[in-house]
Amino acid sequence: MALSLVLRDRLVDVWIDSTRTTETNSSKRVYYLSMEFLIGRLIEDMISNLGLEAEARDAMEALGQQYDTIVHDEPDAALGNGGLGRLAACFMDSLATLGIPAFGYGIRYEHGLFEQSFVEGEQAEQPETWLSQRHAWEFERPEVHHSIGFGGHVSHSDGRATWHPDSGVVATAFDTPVVGWKGEWGNTLRLWSAKPITPFDLDSFNRGDYLAASRSEALARTISRVLYPDDTTENGKELRLKQEYFFTAASIMDLLRRHMDEQYDIRALPDHVAIQLNDTHPAIAGPELVRLLVDEHGVPLPEAIALARRCLAYTNHTLLPEALERWPESLFARVLPRHLEIIRVIEEAQQTEFPGSPCILEHGEIRMGELAFVMAHKVNGVSALHTELVKETVFADLHRIHPKRIVNQTNGITPRRWLHGCNPALRGLINDQLGEAWVSDLEQLTALKAKRTDSEFIAAFQQAKRSNKVALSNWIGETCGVALDPDAMFDVQIKRIHEYKRQLMNLLETVALWNEMRDDPDRDWTPRVKIFGGKAAPGYVLAKQIIHLINDVARVVNADPATKGRLKIVFPPNYNVTMAERLIPAADLSEQISTAGKEASGTGNMKFALNGALTIGTLDGANVEIRDHVGSENFFLFGLTASEVVDRRRQHGFSRNAIEASPRLQRVLGQIFEGLFSPEDPYRYHGLIGMLYDHDHFLVTCDFDSYYDTQRRADIVFQNPQNWASMALMNTASMGWFSSDRTIRGYARDIWQADAPSSALERSA
Ligand SMILES: *Cc1c(COP(=O)(O)O)cnc(C)c1O
Repeated sequence: MALSLVLRDRLVDVWIDSTRTTETNSSKRVYYLSMEFLIGRLIEDMISNLGLEAEARDAMEALGQQYDTIVHDEPDAALGNGGLGRLAACFMDSLATLGIPAFGYGIRYEHGLFEQSFVEGEQAEQPETWLSQRHAWEFERPEVHHSIGFGGHVSHSDGRATWHPDSGVVATAFDTPVVGWKGEWGNTLRLWSAKPITPFDLDSFNRGDYLAASRSEALARTISRVLYPDDTTENGKELRLKQEYFFTAASIMDLLRRHMDEQYDIRALPDHVAIQLNDTHPAIAGPELVRLLVDEHGVPLPEAIALARRCLAYTNHTLLPEALERWPESLFARVLPRHLEIIRVIEEAQQTEFPGSPCILEHGEIRMGELAFVMAHKVNGVSALHTELVKETVFADLHRIHPKRIVNQTNGITPRRWLHGCNPALRGLINDQLGEAWVSDLEQLTALKAKRTDSEFIAAFQQAKRSNKVALSNWIGETCGVALDPDAMFDVQIKRIHEYKRQLMNLLETVALWNEMRDDPDRDWTPRVKIFGGKAAPGYVLAKQIIHLINDVARVVNADPATKGRLKIVFPPNYNVTMAERLIPAADLSEQISTAGKEASGTGNMKFALNGALTIGTLDGANVEIRDHVGSENFFLFGLTASEVVDRRRQHGFSRNAIEASPRLQRVLGQIFEGLFSPEDPYRYHGLIGMLYDHDHFLVTCDFDSYYDTQRRADIVFQNPQNWASMALMNTASMGWFSSDRTIRGYARDIWQADAPSSALERSA
């Protein structure tokens, strides 16, 4: 805590300077609205961005403390589910590094994503408690608050509407400084916490009704109490809608107040404000901004809609139909009656101007994707393939009407956390070659390509990977009680557990490999360690079964003397940012095996390739662009393409046919079905295996053989360590384009028309 507070002191100056510079230069500000910020620990980031690592180490040593123990004591702030939340965190880092004035707006959940443990192989969930010790980086700002209403009715008189909410909460701000590389610019992550409007009902208390006395308080606090643990969307839940409105309204009110405080004309809003919606969760921003412009600032409705649209942009993250948010109109009428009126007007205006436009209101539901699209001046996908699919599928009709609105911004990752921070061994090696400028200019890694035939450098590159693998083996030994061989291939799949991500296919391949190793013990097998990590949404039964099966198979395989020293399976519980930082630098092989067309981008894929892992993957999401950059000869490609997937799914009995054609797969499915891995409960996986035969929506069976064969190709390449290392180096050296600095420059140029104030540019020049 002391170390954090000392660092925090240093951050404040640059933070205040940045705010002043923004005000003096009347710079446009970017407002990034996201329901999730998966930030992880901050202390090492802060230390390295300020360039104070040596000083911090010395100071801790002088106090008789171990630096590494201290920095690992910080709780991992898991205010997000996965990729979407982590993207928001990487973007905050890049915005600050580029000196673009920005606020991140979100919710200060009391409890982040649940903690995962395994009880006899099954996932169990415990509440997460990151605030049980004081969060050192945040500043509570009790003077920054907004009243957020819910429910009630709307009255109309003299052409003016007035919303009379019948309940409400107060949003209060907690600010965390986000300081960029070299500590030159500081932005704000502002997270809202819900407080009761009337904290306490003294009358009830005096009457002795103690429960009623604190009822409003309890109700208010539930709004920012807990993150919904589904990485797609929880549909129809009133509390979720209230969370979305709560943080969006507070953020819009906050930026409007800032605009008015700075005495700009309300009609100049788009010159000063760019609002980015991270998915549809904050899509109520459109109607809310229109409401405030019309009801509070007297702007005529059609003009308000046009003004709001010039401020707003929307990022689409998924094509999965179950993840596209829809809300019952009846729920909206009850919770946000004025917004429902405004949405009807937006719909009417759209239908008048573009007859036959897809409806926002349909079958008694409000479709948030259509709402976000219609209210945004730009809509972006998150990888080249995904953006094309957005144009062809979910928003095909809207794209025809607004052919220039959809643009692509391929995701990226911050090299500060995902190489400089998490991989000191590789960082040191690169610094020796290139100096440190690559950290904020990742394309400089290209210079490493020249080293791919330099045997001395390759040896050093291998040594860096090996030391990371040894460190990981020690940690796995301690936490999972499984001994690993650091010279085996570390094959890693870490991400949320989802059918489309196909952890099941990876596991089936593992069982098939185990079978062949047992059948043919004299072959020169490449030793493998299969590492899984990830959480399943608590209500996602099938995903939880897959976790159970991985643990069941691990128990049997790890105990088998026949494959000892050749095959191990580990699944350390509670995958989070901190664990990713530990696992990724030690990976040889990165599993990016989603059904083509289903993963919008992926960012895990980028982290692995940057840290010198080879990818085994499908042509999905950003895998396509990663392969283009690193070279097809340095990437293990397999599987059906997105259009082949669509065709195959139309063929009657496609999965039964695929299984029939693959004796290897048949055998594995038979073993699981018969209870070889669950002898205490032999029927445990009947449902799961039956699903593969009859409803294999994600084409596990169809891609299995191609995946298995490609894995064996990887085995052979791994047997030539120099060659493998030189391919891995080509991955690291080619990943510069995937820096989130490049992504943010793209947003700033194509969507926000925002720039760094000249002073920041001068300072970073
Ligand atoms: C990067 C990251 C993700 C996203 O991983 P994908 O493989 O792209 O799904 C999810 N969770 C954590 C903790 C991450 O760091």
